[in-house]
Amino acid sequence: MPGLSKRLSSLKPSSTLAVTARQIELRRQGVDVVSMAAGEPDFDTPDHVKAAAIRAIEAGKTKYTEVQGIFELRQAVADKFARENGLSYTPEQVSVSNGGKQALYNAFMALLDEGDEVLIPAPYWVSYPEQVRLAGGVPVSVPTLAKDDYVLDPERLLAALTPRSKVIVLNSPGNPTGAVFPEGVIKAVAELAAERNLMLISDEIYEHIIYGADKHVSPARFAPDHTLTVNGASKAFAMTGWRLGFAAGPVWLIKAMNSLQGQVTTNASTPAQYAALEALRNPDGLTTAFVEMARTAFSRRRDLIVKGLNDLGLPTPTPHGAFYALADATRIRENEVDAARVLLDEARVAVVPGTDFGAPGRVRFSYACSEGQITEALARIRLL
Ligand code: PMP
Repeated sequence: MPGLSKRLSSLKPSSTLAVTARQIELRRQGVDVVSMAAGEPDFDTPDHVKAAAIRAIEAGKTKYTEVQGIFELRQAVADKFARENGLSYTPEQVSVSNGGKQALYNAFMALLDEGDEVLIPAPYWVSYPEQVRLAGGVPVSVPTLAKDDYVLDPERLLAALTPRSKVIVLNSPGNPTGAVFPEGVIKAVAELAAERNLMLISDEIYEHIIYGADKHVSPARFAPDHTLTVNGASKAFAMTGWRLGFAAGPVWLIKAMNSLQGQVTTNASTPAQYAALEALRNPDGLTTAFVEMARTAFSRRRDLIVKGLNDLGLPTPTPHGAFYALADATRIRENEVDAARVLLDEARVAVVPGTDFGAPGRVRFSYACSEGQITEALARIRLL
């Protein structure tokens, strides 16, 4: 065997995918599993968006486009950032990718040299540290606490800085915690990035899924030259399978990301670009209505699951955004991988262990499923 590269042999397979594989295997055996593992809305893509993609295909929009995405979409993304986030970008400052995931990877590849450190508030989304390592960087976790609803304390970030620090990652609303960072925190982190000449990567993919009085704030408002704003169609418009994400930031960085993408995947799928364009155009307020419908449904599900888990002795802080609840599962088993296994094999509820999220002792429930499924999952866990 010629053997794998050092880079790839250290890559961790996604624990989310491992649970999904086990769950599929159980289902194949006829076992009925309630899935609370997947990180995607259970809603279907809105009809007006599907129709736009079909129209695009029928009109022959089936060829390569500019690597960075069609101009109209980049303009629509710039308009979205202006309208919803108070950010001022030109289409040249926007790059469209195969999902927010690729935009993030492009950014880490464009920014990091061997040994550069990337500060990541923990618990974090599993792909950040892995992408950083693939790009030769060193992920440095900055802890946040359940008792603070996992809101970052900027002092801790400051304490983690070293001369090798190059990038800070912010993800608010966050996966897997559901934390929404208040404006004061976002502003402090943005100002720190500008002062220390660091790049801030702000992953805002869950921006529309916020409950109660919290407001989403983009750090690029405070440090536009030091922030890359990443977002996409997956979570807001229930378009996970279309693979459409985007990023906006300083031209020097966007250009480098485009060059990399041009050698790796070229443009995001052309029909998907037209679909996202339609979603962002929001004809007759259809997209706004969809987003609001989904948010309201997620909000009810959140209340149901958070109360249910706490009543079952699995302490769970109330998430302020996204569609995940991070539960302390030590009552089931001390180790979160064992707890997730018991939940799947004995309660037939699929969740993801916190191991790769930097959340030992905890398991992540995704409540992007029906209220009926949540009630059923809670009933099954009660019997453990
Ligand atoms: N960021 C976060 C925090 C996520 O949870 C996800 C999806 N799980 C993504 C980015 C990537 O989403 P996509 O590639 O579908 O845009």
